[in-house]
Amino acid sequence: MSDKVKGINTVCIHSGELHDLEYGSAVSPLYMATSYDYQVKSGDLYPRYFNTPNQQALCQKISDLEHCEASLIFGSGMAAITNALMAFLHSGDHIVVQTSIYGGTYHFLTELCAHYGISHDFVDGSDQKAFSDKIKSNTKVIYIESPSNPLLEVIDLNMISALAKSRDLVSIIDNTMASPVNQNPALFGVDVVVHSATKYMGGHSDILAGTISCSKVHRDRIFSSAKMFGANLSEYTIWLLERSIKTMGLRVACHNANAQFIAEWLEAHPSIAKVHYPGLKSHASHEIAKRQMKGFSGVISFELAAGLNAEQFLEALRVIKRSLSFAGVESTALLPAATSHSIVGEQARKTMGISDHLIRLSVGIEDVEDLIRDITQAINVIK
Ligand SMILES: *Cc1c(COP(=O)(O)O)cnc(C)c1O
Repeated sequence: MSDKVKGINTVCIHSGELHDLEYGSAVSPLYMATSYDYQVKSGDLYPRYFNTPNQQALCQKISDLEHCEASLIFGSGMAAITNALMAFLHSGDHIVVQTSIYGGTYHFLTELCAHYGISHDFVDGSDQKAFSDKIKSNTKVIYIESPSNPLLEVIDLNMISALAKSRDLVSIIDNTMASPVNQNPALFGVDVVVHSATKYMGGHSDILAGTISCSKVHRDRIFSSAKMFGANLSEYTIWLLERSIKTMGLRVACHNANAQFIAEWLEAHPSIAKVHYPGLKSHASHEIAKRQMKGFSGVISFELAAGLNAEQFLEALRVIKRSLSFAGVESTALLPAATSHSIVGEQARKTMGISDHLIRLSVGIEDVEDLIRDITQAINVIK
């Protein structure tokens, strides 16, 4: 951890950067090569081995951001998640998983893992004591997502890491919603931290990527299968991701402030029935969130008052775009039931508490007054 004592923006900008000794360029040079002289350096540089110059540079930055010893970069968030899971789960093993997780992860565990003889039990994140009840003799991993997508459920990280350590399990968290700016699960003892870097790390809705951060020991274990799965990110996109992360501290600070303002405004609005945001005192896990998060991030979910149509509301928005994905500099909104969580099915959505009318708003970094004005005019149009 080379940059332990530096501030978040300094780490975002400088940590890990490559120095161009020939020309003195201000940014890391890009090495596109897939082939290197085996007589120099350590001799085995190859993109699929996760060890090329740009991968090493970005891994250093991400490790410093997450306060971990090591990191790996993948071609998508799902590649990071599945590589982390497959490193620790074998045929006959069992995993304890939070119910309210990303739709793709849910699908992977319920369908693909079942084909390989890996079983799972879901735990309602609002009943945190239930995690220990589900652990069996063949359980190897506890997997959580906090805050979760799209209901922003917050899980007590100290509780999860203590439970995992006491039962000799590997704890894995999807930290995408928080970003490394707002939450560093390794500081609370969680073993493996995964991100869809497509979200706040990339931040501009133009990069698909994923990351894993953990100890060197766990990194080596994940690496030993990941180098065969071969889900690496291209060197060019790695270089672009390094550039994006330079502004992540600034961007996330603005996402936090805008979202807190809008969440409080929505909660006080007569046409809004329910608001989910960890920064609100009314949020079920606000006290836990305050303990383990430095900011509450940019995603809010809410429901309109009875009689107001959520589809029509999205249609009426002018600045906020109706769009999949989230965490870009631009504000976007969607209905999880019709998009991100359509594949999990109606019954599973019901178990997760995702109604057909729930709206997920990803608050961008526009001027907050313009966003409030847009929401106001859209409510007036549909009333
Ligand atoms: C988007 C997302 C993923 C999947 O990431 P991709 O980069 O699309 O593969 C996983 N977890 C969470 C919480 C996400 O938001």
